[in-house]
Amino acid sequence: MDLQKALARIEELEEQLELQRMLADNAFEAIGVFDDSLRCVAANKEVTTVLGYSPEEVPGIHLLDCMDKEYHTIVAENVHNNVTEPYMVYGKRKDGTTFPAEGRGRTVFFKDKRYRVASLHDITFRRTTHADLQIALHEMEIIFANTKVGLMFLKGGRYVRRVNQTMAEMFGYDSPDDMRGLNVRELHLSEKNFNEFGDIHFSSLAEGAQIHIEYRLRRKDNTAIWCSLSGQAVDTENPIDLNKGVLWVIDDISKQKAEEARLIQLATTDDLTGALSRSEFYRLAENIMENENRKTAGSALLMIDLDHFKKVNDTYGHDAGDAVLRTFARDCRMILRDKDLFTRLGGEEFAILLPDSDLGGAIIVAERLRRRIAASKVTTDNGDIFYTISIGVAGTGSHKINMEELLQRADKSLYDAKHEGRNRVIFYD
Ligand code: GH3
Ligand code: MG
Ligand code: MG
Repeated sequence: MDLQKALARIEELEEQLELQRMLADNAFEAIGVFDDSLRCVAANKEVTTVLGYSPEEVPGIHLLDCMDKEYHTIVAENVHNNVTEPYMVYGKRKDGTTFPAEGRGRTVFFKDKRYRVASLHDITFRRTTHADLQIALHEMEIIFANTKVGLMFLKGGRYVRRVNQTMAEMFGYDSPDDMRGLNVRELHLSEKNFNEFGDIHFSSLAEGAQIHIEYRLRRKDNTAIWCSLSGQAVDTENPIDLNKGVLWVIDDISKQKAEEARLIQLATTDDLTGALSRSEFYRLAENIMENENRKTAGSALLMIDLDHFKKVNDTYGHDAGDAVLRTFARDCRMILRDKDLFTRLGGEEFAILLPDSDLGGAIIVAERLRRRIAASKVTTDNGDIFYTISIGVAGTGSHKINMEELLQRADKSLYDAKHEGRNRVIFYD
């Protein structure tokens, strides 16, 4: 080989060596080669960084000097048995401080000599992250277990992954475990509700929206429960994968709902008779009449006044008079359809709106009511009370007249009925 070629070859080898160095020095873990007596014969740069030695100090270091004493036996055994799987150790720096690490090694042969290539990877960061995570998880567990609202994680949209104690109690299940794996269909009042709920809300959840609604669900014993529901998908990626889960925060609002219903009832009905209050009657009646068109029969109105009611009070007492009013209201409701509106206008004066009813039909209803009352008696502590009613009837017909006008017409007919001797039905012609 001439000199020229030899020089070129050396240059080539030097370049390869440099690349190997680069490879070793840029590895993210400390790597060393140890001879048969476990003294370091070669090491990458990370060894100096991780263990705190200068590059000159590294050659000759004993493998076990890089480990906490407690791990000497296990490391020696691993070397002896040529264990190549990673193992947990505590690495030891030059200054004696230690750090958690993942150790790994492999026995290799070179020119009949045995070497151990060993690596050490500092996992302090991984450890702290893991520890922080454990703490956060523990905090979450405490919140989950102790919060007074119901919490429910769903697997995808359909199955219960986890609930807390409050949730299990709220829905009458024995324990959170009792609800695990449950199909949420079981929490809906009907199959129809379940499907509609999915149609309406799951697309919003998939778009990342938070849902806040009031909704009726079902307990284990099949009773209904009014809930406030707040839901959100767990996934934060775009697009959202609902299979990663949905969290629902659920509160029992049955009591508020019952109170709300009671207040509405109070505001819209009359205490003594349960008939609609005057204002609610006007509101509903006007609504009905506005939505009527030429094709429907129109509405008819019955204006009713109890005959000689002053005498009832005078003879039997005010309480007995009240009993008559209650009984009268009950009798009216018996002959009315669900859509008919029944109100107490005041005192012993009542009105009934019959939607989808022509004058003829309304007269029949009025007459049936009049006869029913005339044939009835109200039994009180002070004796049986017989009484009659007078009724004025008016209809809108095909002409659109307003509520006020309809009332005036029926009122006029009622006046006529009283005038003509009471206990009769007179209609506005
Ligand atoms: P008519 O209508 O046939 O001409 O004679 P009436 O005796 O019924 O006459 P009026 O309408 O003047 O009297 C209504 C009476 O109803 C007067 C009032 O004492 C009585 N009344 C009004 N509200 C109540 C009530 O809530 N309870 C009782 N017991 N009586 C009431
Ligand atoms: Mg009267
Ligand atoms: Mg009156």
